[in-house]
Amino acid sequence: MIMSTIAENYKNVLANIETACIEAGRDSKDATLIAVSKTKPLCDLKEAYDAGARDFGENHVQELVEKIPQMPEDVRWHMIGHLQRNKVKYIIGKVYLIHSVDSLRLAQEISKESVKAGVNTDILIEVNIASEESKWGMDAEGAVSLVTECAQLPGISIKGLMCVAPITENAEENSKYFKALKQLSVDIEAKKIHNVSMSVLSMGMTGDYMVAAREGATYLRVGTGIFGPRDYNK
Ligand SMILES: *Cc1c(COP(=O)(O)O)cnc(C)c1O
Repeated sequence: MIMSTIAENYKNVLANIETACIEAGRDSKDATLIAVSKTKPLCDLKEAYDAGARDFGENHVQELVEKIPQMPEDVRWHMIGHLQRNKVKYIIGKVYLIHSVDSLRLAQEISKESVKAGVNTDILIEVNIASEESKWGMDAEGAVSLVTECAQLPGISIKGLMCVAPITENAEENSKYFKALKQLSVDIEAKKIHNVSMSVLSMGMTGDYMVAAREGATYLRVGTGIFGPRDYNK
């Protein structure tokens, strides 16, 4: 059996994103691959780093803060998982972007801790674009009001939207959700809210990242496709 390495997987995913962008008439420089390294050991992250990965995504605060000092300083860390307010203080000033802001209270906490630390934190609003009961995130209407409310807060900047699309056998089925997130970002952008940019669209995972790239994703969050399946029992 031939095992593909993390480096090969990483390069394949990059090449697939580039192909999808070219087919959609997009500049592939506008689509950044995030290597989602949750549950994976440091040696795996280093292999991806050596293959060129600089953006890494994690979803647990403790794991994230343990990994940060053990990786090179030029890594950009992305917090992509549900974030509890009492853990915000541990990641402020350490993460490049928080993708998963889904309530005003969470945004207020990020604002408060950022001001305290004298930093500005970039955030995305997580949207439950398929209205799944099991998912975090605001519905589309709620996202618009959340953006408006967050825009007033010091120490944070809204950069765009994020979604986790449904798990599906057929990635094409998620194209409508990616289109909807893109449209929502265009609608919000049109409101020209002070301190709000809609330049970032974080969408697409292992099963559907090529569809997401085609539909305008600027960050693609791929874990399994780079590092292989996760073992949550360890
Ligand atoms: C785990 C995770 C991913 C990556 O999922 P894969 O299917 O392994 O690519 C992407 N986004 C979020 C929010 C995740 O929690």
